[in-house]
Amino acid sequence: MQLEMLAKTLQEHGIVGAGGAGFPTYAKLDQRADTIILNCAECEPLFKVDRQMLEKYAFEIVSGLSLIADAVEAERAIVAIKPSYRGAIEAVKTALAAFPKVTISYLPEIYPAGDEVVLIYETTGRAVKPGEIPISVGVTVFNVETVLNVYRAVNEGVSVTHKYVMVAGEVATPSVLRVPLGISMKELVAHCGGATIKEPAYLIGGPMTGKIGSSSDLVTKTTNAVILLPQDHYIVQRKTVKANIGIKRAMSACCSCRMCTDLCPRNLLGHPINPQAFMHGISQNRVFDPKPFLDTFYCSQCGLCEMYSCMQGLSPATLIDAYRTGLRSKGILPNKEEAEFSGVSDKRKYRSVPVSRLVKRLGLTKYQKEIPFTEEELTPKRVMVSLSQSIGAPAIPVVKKGDKVEAGMCIAVSPEEKLGVALHAPISGKIQEINQQYIVIGK
Ligand code: SF4
Ligand code: SF4
Repeated sequence: MQLEMLAKTLQEHGIVGAGGAGFPTYAKLDQRADTIILNCAECEPLFKVDRQMLEKYAFEIVSGLSLIADAVEAERAIVAIKPSYRGAIEAVKTALAAFPKVTISYLPEIYPAGDEVVLIYETTGRAVKPGEIPISVGVTVFNVETVLNVYRAVNEGVSVTHKYVMVAGEVATPSVLRVPLGISMKELVAHCGGATIKEPAYLIGGPMTGKIGSSSDLVTKTTNAVILLPQDHYIVQRKTVKANIGIKRAMSACCSCRMCTDLCPRNLLGHPINPQAFMHGISQNRVFDPKPFLDTFYCSQCGLCEMYSCMQGLSPATLIDAYRTGLRSKGILPNKEEAEFSGVSDKRKYRSVPVSRLVKRLGLTKYQKEIPFTEEELTPKRVMVSLSQSIGAPAIPVVKKGDKVEAGMCIAVSPEEKLGVALHAPISGKIQEINQQYIVIGK
């Protein structure tokens, strides 16, 4: 398929990165790429979605990957996967025969192997420089579910109306479900037999990069998991620290041990982010040296410094995010062209964090179990579809209150000349409400 035609198809069928970032996929198609990578690292503890999807839909996903590589005229496409995902690897090997451009590359069982900068280095040996994006080294990375959506849009004319979501933790029947967009977490948990504890915390996303949300949060095109945990669980405690409290704790307890910097995956790849220097700067009021503060823009928010490295229980990642947000809101940005690249550290291989050790540190061993993949259809009576589910401009409704819609029908389009994608009805029904944030569809 021609590149322009593919881009138009993906935009019209509402395809965005399903792994969490939500960047419109059509805008990632770039002919400067000589290599396309399928990211099946799935390094967030407990996650078992991508590997099961790849095992079940290996032909479709490898075909979608090959289709993208052909459209951008890339020389090769690589399935980047960990050796322990045996079922998925066998399925991919069987599918590869029909796609000579596609090969498999094995990743180390470390966190965060799925961070694009880490993934590209592990897969190709190319180092993305600080402030640059993957295409600067001729690579584009795609998520597993995104590529399945590309295949379905091109070959079956199917738009994005559903999302694969893992429901895990303190829930009766942990499962991976394919659910309509706009359904609530409460409904998902109820479908999995309900919570096994009273008043659980709702972790939306992965244990490392997710946020504490609530039962009323809604599934969007980037929701990949909801994990129920006790309120006093280590992860919940770490993720609910307020920035002002985090600063006070840093002032009283940061001993400048450097563990956060020594294990920082981006620092080890030569990027200037230095959480120890940043924590020293804020805890000692060293405001005359702006460098550690400006370098916060080179943090990937992987969470390792906060959730794993710091033995004092401090919050470098949370504070880095808060400072960076504050600087950005004042229009203060680093000059990325002058960012220092110190080269990949030769200590990197000794300082990588195995996922198995991370699971223990996070107190997740109890929840590490088989999480079956089911495609049983959920049929909610009502969905609230957000108009803003991805990076870019919100979609513009093309329906009005009282209209009848069929599942899969386009209900909002992307604004012309702006980054964005269309939205489609997840269920059949009547438009009950439209406001600036949502389209509500009811049966
Ligand atoms: S690991 Fe913790 S105590 Fe050590 S320098 Fe970093 S923030 Fe400070
Ligand atoms: S969250 Fe911490 S460990 Fe991760 S990139 Fe940022 S500073 Fe480094």
